[in-house]
Amino acid sequence: MTLYIAAYDAESAECLAACRKIVQVHRRHELPATFFITGKVLEADPEEYRRLLDDPLFEVASHTYSHKMLRDHPFCGPAASEQQIRDEIFLGKQSVERVFERPCLGLRPGCGWPDGLKGAPRALEFVSEAGFRYVSSMSWAKDFALPAPLNQPFSYEEQGFPDLWELPVHGWHENLLKDNNAWGPRRLTLWPPEMPEAIPPAFITTPAEEFAIYRLFIERAVSEELSFVSLVWHPWSLNRFDSEMEMLDLTFSHVRGLGLRAGTYGDLLARVREGAGRQRQL
Ligand SMILES: [Zn+2]
Repeated sequence: MTLYIAAYDAESAECLAACRKIVQVHRRHELPATFFITGKVLEADPEEYRRLLDDPLFEVASHTYSHKMLRDHPFCGPAASEQQIRDEIFLGKQSVERVFERPCLGLRPGCGWPDGLKGAPRALEFVSEAGFRYVSSMSWAKDFALPAPLNQPFSYEEQGFPDLWELPVHGWHENLLKDNNAWGPRRLTLWPPEMPEAIPPAFITTPAEEFAIYRLFIERAVSEELSFVSLVWHPWSLNRFDSEMEMLDLTFSHVRGLGLRAGTYGDLLARVREGAGRQRQL
């Protein structure tokens, strides 16, 4: 059965107030989530984040130390220096583990790429050396287009890291759907599009419109019997657009209505590792 994962990238001071609201919605629906948080954001309010997220319902993972680029990105900028990349990976993990006193299994690098970290051997080495078990870095369609397709988990075996998993993320970076980055009109979609029904004609303006896009990805993942589906959400941007978090209510109710299992990226990791272990035995 398809696993639904609610996940958030927390990367600015605005995220704390938003996370307070988001956590309430999750508790109400008893629905798990993964919070990827930058070390900087976490270290600005460690007690408050711990109070909010130290809960069996939630996984806390790393969104790097300060959101510097691990490889070049046409919209987000060039890669940081090798030393900076190492620091982003190692210090981000240490922050999560210091504040929450539990292992930080996963890393979601800032911005993401169409092929994850496949073309970034040094970054992969650092990620593996730091002890991460998964990276969630594949979040664009080909040619740096959106929405990102429903890519499924794979291991970086071909790159020399058989025990490191890529657990991608799907759909729009929701901040861009709403022009919350003030990028204005930009070449973001593919032609011909792979999922034309998921490309709105203009910036969206209501939580209902936002949910209408997400349900397309969730329902397609279910109909194609994919292992999981997860969307790219940012606390600061969700709160700015939808201060009542209506979209979360609509999405989680729909997930429950479809009878989906909900879990964290950590749960997905356990699932894919178990599957890989079974295959090795065959
Ligand atoms: Zn980010």
